[in-house]
Amino acid sequence: MTKTVHIIGAGVSGLSAGVRLARAGHRVHVHEATQHVGGRCRSYFDGATGLTIDNGNHLLLSGNRHALDYARTIGSEAGLVGPAKAEFSFIDLRGSRQWMLRLNDGRMPLWVFDKNSRVPDTTPRDYFALAPLVWASTDRLVGDTIACRGTLYDRLVQPLLLAALNIDPPKGSAGLAGAIVRETLLAGGKACRPLVARGGLSSVLVDPAIAYIEGRGGSARTGRELRELVRTGERITALKFVDDEITLAPDDAVVLAVPARAATALVPGLTAPTKFRAIVNVHFRYDPPAHLPPLLGVVGGLVEWLFAFPQRLSVTVSDGERLIDTPREELARAIWADVCKAAGIEANLPPWQIVRERRATFEATPEQHALRPGATTSWTNLFLAGDWTDTGLPATIEGSVRSGDRAADHVLRM
Ligand SMILES: Cc1cc2nc3c(=O)[nH]c(=O)nc-3n(C[C@H](O)[C@H](O)[C@H](O)COP(=O)(O)OP(=O)(O)OC[C@H]3O[C@@H](n4cnc5c(N)ncnc54)[C@H](O)[C@@H]3O)c2cc1C
Repeated sequence: MTKTVHIIGAGVSGLSAGVRLARAGHRVHVHEATQHVGGRCRSYFDGATGLTIDNGNHLLLSGNRHALDYARTIGSEAGLVGPAKAEFSFIDLRGSRQWMLRLNDGRMPLWVFDKNSRVPDTTPRDYFALAPLVWASTDRLVGDTIACRGTLYDRLVQPLLLAALNIDPPKGSAGLAGAIVRETLLAGGKACRPLVARGGLSSVLVDPAIAYIEGRGGSARTGRELRELVRTGERITALKFVDDEITLAPDDAVVLAVPARAATALVPGLTAPTKFRAIVNVHFRYDPPAHLPPLLGVVGGLVEWLFAFPQRLSVTVSDGERLIDTPREELARAIWADVCKAAGIEANLPPWQIVRERRATFEATPEQHALRPGATTSWTNLFLAGDWTDTGLPATIEGSVRSGDRAADHVLRM
């Protein structure tokens, strides 16, 4: 029987739930509070640079199974592009040392034994010292589980975990860090090819999902903020929006895929993460030099990752609280100085834009992780999705899609 499912929130979590349900033949209606779809993963035209930019540079890996399945379903998998092998270029700005990390395809980490593939000035023994992280429990800190110092830490572990957890790694959850290590370094090079939505996040991960849902008889509307979930007994019986109310039929279901703060305001008694961390992205209108790889890991500066897009160089700084109050022009100049060093260019500051997402991710600490709920609620037709629900991963696209898939599976079993 065809169900009608209302998805609240048009971020990747909500859209992936909607796509899975539409694929199973159900009628999906997406309601988004703001005027744009995509949530924290979207593109828009930026007047300062004269380019369409993403709110933030998003990196996926070829082992992000749920995210890739989602892209395949909506027909945009080819829009996620990356090298044929799991190769990562790095530069250390202190001394301008450069290297390439090359993971072999198989699960056996042979690259650790090859000095041309592993991080320079490290030995295989350094990598084995990371073993306690692999199955660490979520209530432990990274800093209490492995030694957060030394060359391997500075050149690989710190950049990897900072990007994944969005918090200074020693303060992060060892369990979440372990999940990342298991799904990346330990899964072998085949699972670690870096992928980016080169044509923009919206055109690869958002707009095709909306088209997919609409093409199967569903709808997606913006400017529809849910104000109340009307509860009668064990069910949600109506949805109150700013301007109207929808009464639900007995088989209708709701997937609430809004950020943690919005969810706790709508669902009585819900516990969810309460602390968040920022990510700062700076976009420069500048044609990338031919020698620059699409993705460059930068150590020893303000810049952490440098992305080369057509007509644009773009920088990510994770755990960016410290940069939130820096005057914009000062920040753009400081970052551009790092970009010039890293990319080997000499140029005046080109047109730029800074995007500071204050609540980019929940704080991936043991304390905040413990607050993450599962997908089910006290109401039989209400399910939760979101990168902040308990996906076993930090706040990522892969985690978001997993949460959406899981919520959809609950609806399908209803
Ligand atoms: C700058 C930045 C960089 C990132 N980099 C990466 C990366 O490299 N790799 C990676 O995997 N992940 C990255 N992430 C994380 C990733 O973007 C998120 O995990 C993901 O987008 C979260 O999706 P979501 O659907 O769970 O939440 P959201 O995207 O927040 O979507 C929730 C939606 O609900 C809407 N909403 C809220 N309240 C209501 C209401 N009452 N009624 C209706 N709608 C409502 C919101 O407007 C929003 O559109 C990054 C995030 C940021 C911000």
